[in-house]
Amino acid sequence: MTGSMSGADELSAALLTMENMIVWDAEAGLAAAVELERQAEAIGDEALIVRARLCRICMEMRTGDLAGAQRQLHAIHDWAVAHDDRNMQARTHLNWANIQRLSGDVAKCLEHSVIAVELLDESATPYMQINHRTRLADALGLNGAMDAARTRYRQAEELARELEQGELLTMLLNNWAYTEYSSGEFPRAQEVAARLQEHAAAYGFELDPAALDTIGAIQIENGEYAEAERTMQACLAQYEAGFSDDADDLAEYQLTLARAQRGMGAIEAAQTNLDVSRALCVERELHEVLVRVHQEQAELHALRGEFAEAFAVHKVFFAARERLGSLQREAQAQTRLAMFETAEAREEAERFREQARRDPLTGLRNRRYVDEELPALIADDAELTVAIVDLDFFKRINDELSHDVGDQVLVRAARVLERELAATAPDGFVARLGGEEFLLVLPGTPVTAATAQLDDIRRAVRASDWRDITGDLPVTVSIGVAGAHEASCRSQPGVLSVADRNLYAAKRAGRDRVVAGPGRRRRRRAYRDRDAS
Ligand code: GH3
Ligand code: MG
Ligand code: MG
Repeated sequence: MTGSMSGADELSAALLTMENMIVWDAEAGLAAAVELERQAEAIGDEALIVRARLCRICMEMRTGDLAGAQRQLHAIHDWAVAHDDRNMQARTHLNWANIQRLSGDVAKCLEHSVIAVELLDESATPYMQINHRTRLADALGLNGAMDAARTRYRQAEELARELEQGELLTMLLNNWAYTEYSSGEFPRAQEVAARLQEHAAAYGFELDPAALDTIGAIQIENGEYAEAERTMQACLAQYEAGFSDDADDLAEYQLTLARAQRGMGAIEAAQTNLDVSRALCVERELHEVLVRVHQEQAELHALRGEFAEAFAVHKVFFAARERLGSLQREAQAQTRLAMFETAEAREEAERFREQARRDPLTGLRNRRYVDEELPALIADDAELTVAIVDLDFFKRINDELSHDVGDQVLVRAARVLERELAATAPDGFVARLGGEEFLLVLPGTPVTAATAQLDDIRRAVRASDWRDITGDLPVTVSIGVAGAHEASCRSQPGVLSVADRNLYAAKRAGRDRVVAGPGRRRRRRAYRDRDAS
């Protein structure tokens, strides 16, 4: 590369940083992602826009807008599939997994997590290799498959050590410890937490408040209250130092500290910290933490011998837990609804597209379908033959009978052509080009063979029983044939114009017949020869 980086290169690098970043502050992350998306749109580079958009959706999800994120992910995923971008697909699946986890569907979370790892290839960044495996391990743990989870955590740990990804290693050991803790494996959790602390000490960096909170909670479960208290004081000091400014987490840390202090018998200190946690929960509507605050309050009352108060608070705790359950169910229902709406909208779009490519009168494919499909068929299949079929003296049917009868003839002609073509060329199709003109497409059928088949179809039309519609008026067709191999017409306009010329020749020769051959090619050549001389 020469000179300074272009705007697009700079933006791509900024996006890579964001894609490979462990996010602490979702609001700040969202603001940054919105700005990158704006820059991508200004540059107008589709790939950059999609990457920036995915970063933004990812941040929106972290700020709690699960349904909104869900609604937008499909478009990103479709783009990734259309552009065969496996890493982008892996990332959309990882986001789906997160949404499912946050809305409580652990089985779906696992499904997406598995795909998010399967899709990774050598081009995936070290961040993705480690992060996606860690998330898969988390999902396995949530589903109670602890042995499988440990295998994945170990793989991720090896990778992180090999690729010297210290920050990711911290994240994964933290998640691993938390997964062991959540499944009640407290001694194992303690062992992983110890490795987490060793790793931090060896690399000389401080553990973040979330990791310290996990360690504190594990120590409490193992009865190490004094250690837990020290851990939580360190956690709060880190928090105060501005390591994380997500105030929602503070309520959690104060609660863990209170629990450690209760274990030590420091009831008053515990009560003070619990009050701080409760105030934060109320102010910030942290329902999940508040439920556990009530629970802890009941424990504190009981420890003081205040059994009436303990019982009263216990009732509050139960009521709050019920309410939390219904809030979570509601959030889950909203996410489900968003998923359903997206699926429905896609089906609707597909139905609309299908309708737009059919002729309403006969139900056959229409001109739009032909324009979309035929060029590729011609390019890929030198033995493809097409035929234009035109009803003879159709105007007479309209004039002598009625336009309505004309319509009935068109519908029945469509059925006869479909039936006859399906019998001889099952891979082919019939389309209505307009008026009383149809197109027959016969893949893998050289012109000579096709012409014989088309003549059978012509005779089948004439032999059909039309009397119930047209009375004594016969219904016949003229057919003009063209092969894709004919040198002058390896394109849709070329093929159709040869077929059209042959149709015209069939009409002039008396109708009710099939004409094939390269049209007026000989005469055109003669023309050109004259021009050249
Ligand atoms: P030829 O044998 O040369 O093809 O004669 P023709 O009468 O079939 O051809 P012409 O092009 O003179 O007339 C075609 C007629 O088809 C004219 C038009 O009113 C009629 N037509 C076009 N679309 C429809 C339709 O959807 N329904 C009906 N009933 N008639 C239609
Ligand atoms: Mg006609
Ligand atoms: Mg016509």
